[in-house]
Amino acid sequence: METSEYNSTVVGKILLTPDLMILRIHTDEPRPKFEAGQFTQIGLLSSEPRSANSVPIREDIAPGKIIKRPYSIASANHETQNFEFYISQVKSGQLTPRLFNLSLGSRIWVDTRIIGLFKLNETPKECDIVMIATGTGLAPYISFLRSHILENQHRKLAVIHGASYPWDLGYFSELTFLKFTFNNFYYFPTLIHADKEWTGLRGYIEEHLQNDLLQKEAGIEIDPNKTHIYVCGNPKMVESVSNFLKQFNYIRHTKTRPGSLHVEEY
Ligand SMILES: Cc1cc2nc3c(=O)[nH]c(=O)nc-3n(C[C@H](O)[C@H](O)[C@H](O)COP(=O)(O)OP(=O)(O)OC[C@H]3O[C@@H](n4cnc5c(N)ncnc54)[C@H](O)[C@@H]3O)c2cc1C
Repeated sequence: METSEYNSTVVGKILLTPDLMILRIHTDEPRPKFEAGQFTQIGLLSSEPRSANSVPIREDIAPGKIIKRPYSIASANHETQNFEFYISQVKSGQLTPRLFNLSLGSRIWVDTRIIGLFKLNETPKECDIVMIATGTGLAPYISFLRSHILENQHRKLAVIHGASYPWDLGYFSELTFLKFTFNNFYYFPTLIHADKEWTGLRGYIEEHLQNDLLQKEAGIEIDPNKTHIYVCGNPKMVESVSNFLKQFNYIRHTKTRPGSLHVEEY
């Protein structure tokens, strides 16, 4: 169903698993240039059908209402008319089952504003950058790396990505390519439920931080004056990593108080 409020078209949909996808959207009009790490809202009418593998729920949404949710932008910041999003399906949710039902050419609503304080390119030039994510919390880092890796070769950059299974590691090939291309870039995927074929890290992100992974494998110090740390994704992981970093005197960055710990919870 077309609505006059729809202002964009789906131009790419890659299903990594039945509940995890990369969605590419072309907006009818360009958006203002944004900063890597920021997000925008996307939305669909409540009358749009839900995906076949979602959980049927009783919904009390007014007809004609657009269901809107924020999503971090994964594409580079110079792409102001083609946006990429990394989305996981909440089977009982309102919007994601409808997003997972979209196909190429489907129309969709995308906010004209791009906002958010989680801006990776504002890190002081002399500091290393550690990017920690669970699941789709990786999206802002993909935007940052696609936008700025070339001009950030003077400092160390590390991504720690926690997921359940190997197939949940979206962008694995892209990040592995970057790891072999830039000797200042480190990629540490870690899995909770990997089988014996997986030769990489296992377990929770917090355990690796406690075991000094960053210092041992990348020579990166956990020191708020030397390393800015970004944490994005699951609120429980965000809380436990933030608590761990408190002992190193990390202060959470806010609008009014600058800090070396940057947090975005999904
Ligand atoms: C700044 C910001 C950026 C975000 N960026 C992304 C992104 O890049 N990719 C992405 O997939 N999501 C992202 N989210 C989450 C997104 O906005 C929605 O909350 C999510 O997609 C669920 O929407 P829904 O309408 O399907 O579920 P809703 O109907 O809104 O929620 C149903 C329930 O599911 C819970 N829930 C929300 N997310 C999850 C989850 N991942 N797993 C399990 N339960 C969940 C909610 O707490 C709620 O109780 C972001 C959120 C914020 C605040």
